Amino acid sequence: MKKNDLSSKTRIIMALLGCMAFLFTFFGCRHGYTALPVDQKIIALTFDDGPNPLYTPKVLEILEEHDIKATFFVIGRKAQASPEIVRNIKAAGHEIENHSWSHLFWLSSLTPQKIEKEICATQDIIFNITGEYPAFFRAPFGWTSDQLFISCQKLSLPVMDGSIKPGDTAMPGKDNIVSSILRRADPGAIIILHDGGGFWFYKNRSQTLEALPEVIQGLKDRGYTFVTIKELFDYHIKSARSPIIHKATFY
Ligand SMILES: [Zn+2]
Repeated sequence: MKKNDLSSKTRIIMALLGCMAFLFTFFGCRHGYTALPVDQKIIALTFDDGPNPLYTPKVLEILEEHDIKATFFVIGRKAQASPEIVRNIKAAGHEIENHSWSHLFWLSSLTPQKIEKEICATQDIIFNITGEYPAFFRAPFGWTSDQLFISCQKLSLPVMDGSIKPGDTAMPGKDNIVSSILRRADPGAIIILHDGGGFWFYKNRSQTLEALPEVIQGLKDRGYTFVTIKELFDYHIKSARSPIIHKATFY
């Protein structure tokens, strides 16, 4: 296959995804919490779509080198395939949350039974591996529906999105990932990066790994302390500020 064929196919796929994002946005799709404003300079770093045998251990190494804690929104079927990585995330003191069982594009449009099966199966596998149930849910692609919110409310899982999405799965380049995070950092922001995932030719997370040390150091230099999602949620409640809930944006 020629390089041009690849790029034209990629363009078509990205255009289709963009159209779907547009439709979701204008038909009232909500995202859950996108940021939790607080009175202190704290920020949450989150990683989606793992565990990934190649990238997650490298992310863990970087986090350890910089002595910070992060939150991993893991995919249930991937956790089942790599339980030792999930155990390592937990042993290193990071937080593990629920990102659905199979990361379906159309999860939010499924029946309540199917949505809850995706969420509960992930709750169960994470509990079986770590001995602790996740306390938050993040929808695949951030796309939600009223039914998804009803199901999450029934399962006592707040829907947690993010406010800073540098689009690392589109591989925009290390510098763009770093600058888009540092430019938009503010107290209570939730950063979404990926230790797995990506479509077709975009499964390589090396740019994310390259950007991560600069992101962490840049935020530390600006006076930020890193907290997990649970910690941020607690700080937010004590700060008595309103959460920010945005409509859908595609990332
Ligand atoms: Zn995801």
